[in-house]
Amino acid sequence: MRVLITGAAGFIGSHLCDRFIQEGFEVIGMDNFITGSPDNIAHLFGHPKFKFLHYNVVNYIYLEGSVDIVLHFACPASPADYMSNPIHTMKVDSLGTLNTLGFAKLKKARYVFASTSEVYGDPTVHPQPETYWGNVNPIGPRSVYDEAKRFSEAMCMAYHREHGIDVRILRIFNTYGPRMRINDGRVIPNFITQALKGEPLTVYGNGKQTRSFCYIDDLVEGIFIASVKDGLSGEVINLGNPQEFRIIDIAKLIIELTNSNSQIVFYPPLPDDPKRRCPDIGKAKRLLSWEPKKPLREGLLETINWFREKLKSA
Ligand code: NAD
Ligand code: UDP
Repeated sequence: MRVLITGAAGFIGSHLCDRFIQEGFEVIGMDNFITGSPDNIAHLFGHPKFKFLHYNVVNYIYLEGSVDIVLHFACPASPADYMSNPIHTMKVDSLGTLNTLGFAKLKKARYVFASTSEVYGDPTVHPQPETYWGNVNPIGPRSVYDEAKRFSEAMCMAYHREHGIDVRILRIFNTYGPRMRINDGRVIPNFITQALKGEPLTVYGNGKQTRSFCYIDDLVEGIFIASVKDGLSGEVINLGNPQEFRIIDIAKLIIELTNSNSQIVFYPPLPDDPKRRCPDIGKAKRLLSWEPKKPLREGLLETINWFREKLKSA
């Protein structure tokens, strides 16, 4: 079995490469390194089951040989990244989705799309089930990401309905763990780096907004099952950890776990920042027999250790 993983040098993509190789798959990883790093996959270079292509998925994709599953994970995912690369972000989740879907059609492959909880926008329904249509500002600064993901979902369903492609749309909620970039801009890398350096932790807004954080190994397990299991064609599935936390409490917890003397400072809220976010994972439990296992404290300690080492060598 051979899989194509776009975004292979990114946080989630690199862990997916590891998992598919471990399971005996041949992996073709594709990435243009816009937010990813060769360091994340350096250990795979030279592996007989791994091939890497430095390529921009916005361009037409052609590869020799059979491919059984295409996983489209390329896309800047941190709000700081997608807001500073707005047009690229829209291209990767429109043209990139079109190209990878066309490629899957040509190869008669299954297609797994990395969608996001951001398709729910600033939700008015809580927790968010897959049946909720969302509350997205179509012209706000986050729209380049949210609307491109929504467009990609529609494109996946169009290929499913018109060409019978076996697509699976995974709505991924906030995920954290080793291999996130130190300067990625997302809340957990920011707070850990700030706490380890003794700098103030920057809370945007009053810190009462919530997120639900899933450890990377749990997420990868969910993605792997959703990719290899039969009978899921056309399904849309939330993947995330339903334990919900206020951002201010995350800041306090990270200060405690790092034994840091850092203070907390408050900055103005980001525009359109969702106020609450928590997945309803009933469908994932039912269809995948999956639910996250790693408690936040444990996952954070592992992530803190990884960042500590990374900062030493930075
Ligand atoms: P990331 O930024 O670490 O990884 C994205 C990867 O895609 C990077 O290696 C980047 O270089 C690559 N890439 C971007 N544009 C590309 C292009 N045009 N051609 C080839 N490669 C390109 O982000 P991540 O956290 O690993 O997210 C991966 C996927 O999961 C994204 O699609 C994201 O939207 C989705 N997702 C992530 C989260 C999360 O919490 N991490 C949540 C929801 C959805
Ligand atoms: N956030 C924060 N300080 C930071 C980074 C983020 O208070 O240094 C907040 C941000 O405003 C949001 C939450 O943390 O409410 C999660 O932000 P992140 O960028 O990690 O991802 P999002 O869930 O918004 O995509």
